[in-house]
Amino acid sequence: MLVLDRTFFINSFEKMAELAEVQRNHWSKLDSDIGDGDHGINMTIGFRDVTKKLDAMRESDEDISELLRSVGMSLMSKVGGASGPLYGSFFMRAANDYKGQMEVTFPEFCQIIKNGVDQIVKIGKAQHGDKTMLDAFLPGLEVLFDQDLENEPIKAFEAFVARMKQGSDETIPLIAKKGRAMRLGERAIGFRDPGSESSWMLMNIYLEELKKI
Ligand code: ADP
Ligand code: MG
Repeated sequence: MLVLDRTFFINSFEKMAELAEVQRNHWSKLDSDIGDGDHGINMTIGFRDVTKKLDAMRESDEDISELLRSVGMSLMSKVGGASGPLYGSFFMRAANDYKGQMEVTFPEFCQIIKNGVDQIVKIGKAQHGDKTMLDAFLPGLEVLFDQDLENEPIKAFEAFVARMKQGSDETIPLIAKKGRAMRLGERAIGFRDPGSESSWMLMNIYLEELKKI
């Protein structure tokens, strides 16, 4: 069974921070179409704080839940926009059930992601089809938990990320029912939701790190 250790998580956080820098303008451009144009800025503000913590994380003996909580705290406390508390609680809530573990199995990792998404739903109160990051996460999770998590982890996570990417595409023709884009009404039609794009790309970082194990 595939087991994920602290290094997997810390390396993933490092790559997520790099991704945010590279995608900063793209994510903000998407947000300028239907929001206030700061999604990329918000993500780099949060992940730059994560970057500052990476060395200390590597030297610490923090368990998986403490590492995830630390990332969540950065996103939640440093980011002004809606995505800060949402992604912040995604990471923070994620590992609550795995306290004291220095590694998690792949099925436990998938459950961590599911718990995080449940928290986004609880806080943001959006549903599938509301033109938010949940339009990527929710159908993605359905596909993920249909897979053989114990025997084919990479295939399972590839299917998860592919469905999330498709879910992001599916936000384009929608009217927004949550977030800033809601105010645009029909004028939001034809534009991708920025959070749906950043969310599949962040999960794709986990996929890339899984493939290296
Ligand atoms: P803000 O909207 O405050 O400027 P960002 O631009 O950083 O924050 O993030 C916007 C993204 O947050 C949206 O594209 C959407 O995916 C996500 N979002 C906004 N509100 C919600 C919600 N209630 N539930 C889930 N996701 C949401
Ligand atoms: Mg914004």
